Amino acid sequence: MLLARFVLLLNLVVLGSFGSGAPGPVAQVDYFADNGYGNPVGTLQHPAVEHYQGVTYVAYQGPHEDPYVAAYVHATGRWLGPVQAGVSLMGKAPDQIDPGELDNHGKPALVVDRQGYIHLVFGSHGGDPKNGKNPLGAFFMGTKGKMTHAVSVKPGDISAWRVVDNIPAFGTYNQWVKLANGDLYLFYRHGGHRSDWVYQKSVDDGRTFAAPVSVLKHKVSAASRTIDDSWYAWFDVGQGDTITASYVYHPCADPKHNAHRQNVYFMQMAARTGGWTNVQGERLTLPVTKEAADKLTLVEATGTVKSTHGTCHVDTAGRPHLAFPVGHELHYYRWDGQAWQKPVVIGAGQGRVDDGDFIIDSPLHVRMILGQTREGANDISWWETTDGGLTWAKGAPLIASKELSFTPSAIARNAHPDAVMLLASRSSTEPHLYRRMFLVGGQGPLGRPAAEAGHLGNRLEQIKSLPPPSLAKAEAKRKKKAGLSDDDL
Ligand code: ZN
Repeated sequence: MLLARFVLLLNLVVLGSFGSGAPGPVAQVDYFADNGYGNPVGTLQHPAVEHYQGVTYVAYQGPHEDPYVAAYVHATGRWLGPVQAGVSLMGKAPDQIDPGELDNHGKPALVVDRQGYIHLVFGSHGGDPKNGKNPLGAFFMGTKGKMTHAVSVKPGDISAWRVVDNIPAFGTYNQWVKLANGDLYLFYRHGGHRSDWVYQKSVDDGRTFAAPVSVLKHKVSAASRTIDDSWYAWFDVGQGDTITASYVYHPCADPKHNAHRQNVYFMQMAARTGGWTNVQGERLTLPVTKEAADKLTLVEATGTVKSTHGTCHVDTAGRPHLAFPVGHELHYYRWDGQAWQKPVVIGAGQGRVDDGDFIIDSPLHVRMILGQTREGANDISWWETTDGGLTWAKGAPLIASKELSFTPSAIARNAHPDAVMLLASRSSTEPHLYRRMFLVGGQGPLGRPAAEAGHLGNRLEQIKSLPPPSLAKAEAKRKKKAGLSDDDL
């Protein structure tokens, strides 16, 4: 029944009448904006959503791959924005209709500082050689753009933004970690994929950042001179002032490239000292090498089965739980204090379950928000375990549709129960790359009047004259990229 209800909600519904005595229906839609563009959100560039003092702020990739910000005021149920918050140097004009023309790596990550200023980092895929030499990585396979830091001009106000030139140009997969005391950590890969993963710490609300500290080391592999050690990592706040890192290894073929990823790893930092340890508490030397990772931080060895970066949180005992795609499965891992529990396939036998993010209520009780396509319908739903992940039950959908499929963000920082995750939708019937954006939680999607949700202006007119996507070119690109997706470079 719930499923049917939310499918219905995706269509226009009529709610009451206009105010000020003018009779007539107000068309309400379930999305808050229609100008997501390409792949507007992902779990890797995170968080894209933060709840702060009664307002949920969201950031996503809009037209021209520029960052856009909107805000939902919970007390009034009103939306503000979206507002363009900066310019990505990777965008092409006019907007493209061929997905192969987009880079999609510069999605914004968002954080609100102690004073209420909203910060974004966006706009880069490893930086551009014209920005100078990269001391911690390499330009490789089309690295471009410039990692850009934009801050709201006023606290709690998304209407105006300024660029602060205080971070390197070379980042990719920008991620913000905010500790309870307000210290900010900006994590990212310092260049093309043959680059270190680093963090920069700010103790003054993003006015200044300490120099990058390498966490994961890129280097020529000890196993083969034609392999470069490369990584894909996900960082988040752990218990107290710890920061977790969960990651996969990419044996990058040199000089060519390959799509393989393998294994799942975990480690953590005590922010007070900057010291890193494995899950058993053994000290790690930075930057962590492939050899050290294999010996000290391995969660699962996947061998020839491809793993993909996932998400990780810790429970009240400070023990990590992870959800990582492995092959066509989604694997759940939990450290029980002594060992990693045997990996569990979430939704085994129920079709493919896509990656997502999760909330730990207690060590044995975990709720995930995951996507699934079954019998021609797409849904983003709760999945729950009450036995420490041994079994999982699919629960209520947050949104479902036959026409639209959905791409999730990571879960909101300090999430309000009504606004847990940002979703970008895709309709296979639409010949353009604009996406409807949804904010979902316990009440279903937080929509708004249709007249407020349209933000494309004349963009559909502007792109009308573009030639249709070239299938031959797309095929050539596909072969060149050897089946790589956005996050593979
Ligand atoms: Zn590679």
